[in-house]
Amino acid sequence: MSGGALRLAGLTRVHGTGSAPALDGFDLEVPAGSCVAILGPSGSGKSTVLRLTAGLDEPTAGSVHLDGVDLAGVLPERRGMAMVFQRPLLFPHLSVRDNVAFADRVRGVPRRTARRRAEEFLELVQLGGYGGRPARALSGGQEQRVALARALAAEPRVLLLDEPFSALDARLREEMHELLADLRMRLDPTILLVTHDHAEADTLADRVAVLDGGRLLQAGPMRALYARPASLTVSRLLGGRTEVAGVVRDGRHESPLGSLDLPAPVPDGPAVLVVRHEAVQVTTAADPAADAVGSAVRVRPRGLRALVTVEVTGDGGTTTVDAELGPGHDVAAGGTVGLRLPAGDRWVVPVDDAADDPVADGARA
Ligand code: ADP
Ligand code: MG
Repeated sequence: MSGGALRLAGLTRVHGTGSAPALDGFDLEVPAGSCVAILGPSGSGKSTVLRLTAGLDEPTAGSVHLDGVDLAGVLPERRGMAMVFQRPLLFPHLSVRDNVAFADRVRGVPRRTARRRAEEFLELVQLGGYGGRPARALSGGQEQRVALARALAAEPRVLLLDEPFSALDARLREEMHELLADLRMRLDPTILLVTHDHAEADTLADRVAVLDGGRLLQAGPMRALYARPASLTVSRLLGGRTEVAGVVRDGRHESPLGSLDLPAPVPDGPAVLVVRHEAVQVTTAADPAADAVGSAVRVRPRGLRALVTVEVTGDGGTTTVDAELGPGHDVAAGGTVGLRLPAGDRWVVPVDDAADDPVADGARA
């Protein structure tokens, strides 16, 4: 199997007159053999992108191109795409093997050939030997592997994955991530993956497109979006925790944290400083290199690490900064600490999209 190049251009879907578009002018390139993730909250239009791509719904405007060919009017079963959903949708009364062989059988492939091919794809998803079992006898993780094998057996030019691992527990999800990475090395499929989990997008995808309210907010490699989110909304969707309101003057951000040098030129005016908790270093109050000193108001363990919220009072009021403590580092709740905010990890975003309700700390935990 070799993946095709997918291009979505101005994809728009309006469900009813007067209702806001479920998807509004969505553009995306998915190069052949790459994995692109669509990341967004529930209701942001992610499944709509997949349904329009697969031809299950008609776009109100815009187009889907595979290897340069416009797929307008092409039936779903003729698009060379296969989809895996959050629920596996297997035929419970059929054997695992016959579930995987189903598409081949419908296409008229002789039973023996179809079953042999099914066994090959079951091997690929590490379910060799399970072919004879009834599908209803599988666990949730195994069912999702069969759904993946069934999709791969169709030898699609594009694999569409709609939150396929979100119903699995953390360990199974991680196993599926490893399986998918392994399949990518062996088969080189083109994958468009929908997820609401930025860590999953980070693990699996080469690039990510962030969607909110049916609109593309930002697209690029994951690392670039973590370091340089275009807006507060993107920062929050990527798990950003620290937001310090202030003003930019002459390339410095001024806030209760003090006057901080910025790594890139930014126009003067109100702006929110965002800095990843992974990048903030917690030191002592006496540290001469500390950018700020504050009080550790909350400490939450995360395995061998911990997440600490530090409250800093300075010019213009009080703010909080979250930091991740490495193994072996400990901070007592209520203690005074120093914070280093490495210059290259500081980033400012406009305040204007803060019109969205600020996300409560708890909701971002
Ligand atoms: P996501 O997959 O990101 O959760 P969807 O693409 O399923 O979001 O939905 C995007 C928006 O479109 C939502 O507001 C949803 O309520 C709306 N929507 C989806 N399908 C329909 C439909 N068949 N009729 C009306 N509205 C729909
Ligand atoms: Mg969805």
